[in-house]
Amino acid sequence: MATDQDLLIEAARRARRNRRSGRNLLISLVVAAACAAIGWVLIFQVRAFIKSIPFLPLGMVTGWLLVIGVAAFVLAGLIAAGALLVANPGNRWGVPVAGACPACGGRILRQDTVAPAGSGSLRNPPKGVVTLCDVKGCAYGTATVTTPSRAG
Ligand SMILES: [Zn+2]
Repeated sequence: MATDQDLLIEAARRARRNRRSGRNLLISLVVAAACAAIGWVLIFQVRAFIKSIPFLPLGMVTGWLLVIGVAAFVLAGLIAAGALLVANPGNRWGVPVAGACPACGGRILRQDTVAPAGSGSLRNPPKGVVTLCDVKGCAYGTATVTTPSRAG
């Protein structure tokens, strides 16, 4: 049976992992890819198709398709770049805490309030403040329970 501390530390690690893997980043990259695909279709498929039709005075249209297609490509690049910037370590889990890690001596402890979602047998999960060491490979974590779990 895991203690409340264990549950909180585990939930904090999960939150930190999600932040790092970045679900938002993934969605942004999918949107960027969609924009790039639209640009590609406009420039290389639709425009080429219209151009292949003879005696059709659509020079303006193909010109605009090129502009819109290039704009879609630029937008895709901007979205991807912005998503990568947001997902950078500037936007990390928790806030920095003063002091050194008791396990590895690293000075990058971070702390955040954790309130995991209840599930299964644990309908009233604990709440608390978790401090994690941010040194790669260091497993140090400590939790202060503010609201203990109750059997649901
Ligand atoms: Zn450490």
